[in-house]
Amino acid sequence: MEKNYRAELVGVLGDPVDGNPTGVMEEAGFEHAGLNWRYITVKVLPEDLDSAMAGVRAFNMRGVNLTMPHKINVLKHMDALSEAAKVIGAVNTVVCREDGTMFGENTDGKGFVQSLADADIPLAGKTITLLGAGGAARSIGVECALAGAAAIHIVNRNPERGRALADVINAHTKAEADFIPWVGTARVPEGTDILINATCVGLHPNGDQCPDIDFDGVVPGMVACDVVFNPVDTVFLTRAAQRGARCVDGLGMLVNQGCINYTLWTGQPAPRDVMYRKLRAEFEG
Ligand code: NDP
Repeated sequence: MEKNYRAELVGVLGDPVDGNPTGVMEEAGFEHAGLNWRYITVKVLPEDLDSAMAGVRAFNMRGVNLTMPHKINVLKHMDALSEAAKVIGAVNTVVCREDGTMFGENTDGKGFVQSLADADIPLAGKTITLLGAGGAARSIGVECALAGAAAIHIVNRNPERGRALADVINAHTKAEADFIPWVGTARVPEGTDILINATCVGLHPNGDQCPDIDFDGVVPGMVACDVVFNPVDTVFLTRAAQRGARCVDGLGMLVNQGCINYTLWTGQPAPRDVMYRKLRAEFEG
């Protein structure tokens, strides 16, 4: 049989993107499965997104991830969107289909929901308090609502963003969402089952920082989750654990969305354990 030296290409477009570890995890999965696929990490400035997407086509790439600041601006390049991407209004994963069309999906929230399922934490009927209303929070809020959460309190500094997320959840899902302005030290609403830090507070190089909340409201039995994955053991999770909460870190969400993307692109199940171990090792230095 004739040899094929051409690798199938996927990757991530963003800025800043240098510290994005996704490629290491995806390539570990490809190698494990014997797939000649490469994941390239590409710096793309906001004004260059259109040229970059033309490049994705020209290079016959199989798909891309979008990260800051492109998740919304890429929408105009999509021929079709998943239900979740439509409701969330942002795309983090593009699948380039054989017929030349591009399909946009949002897998951040799906990865989060899967990380709760992995820990046997049910969402159905639960009350969630979501800190933040940015891209990650939107995706998590919508997916938790679609997965059956009963109520979602959105706590955010910027009222427009906070209200907009509550409105989207109320309009498109059965969950009841409300917005709580984040002024000074935020109180954790009584009855919260799952408390999620979906802000960027605590992210490297500010790993010593913690969202300004009153930890007295964190009670034993509550679940505390962080989207920040670098560092893995955030101050938020450490303090929540000291109050008796059960903790779920951001690494599971990252690996799970990477696995969903892997399957969307290759059509094969992802070798999750291989990908998780590789990523974990990256953060252990
Ligand atoms: P955005 O910039 O879209 O949103 C940031 C959010 O954080 C906003 O709600 C903002 O509030 C809030 N915020 C920022 N600083 C503070 C502060 N000092 N106090 C209170 N709130 C604050 O970012 P993303 O949503 O894209 O990313 C958020 C985090 O999620 C990042 O750390 C990112 O690494 C992580 N992430 C993790 C993933 C994973 O797989 N684990 C996947 C995707 C993202 P306001 O609106 O008021 O400005």
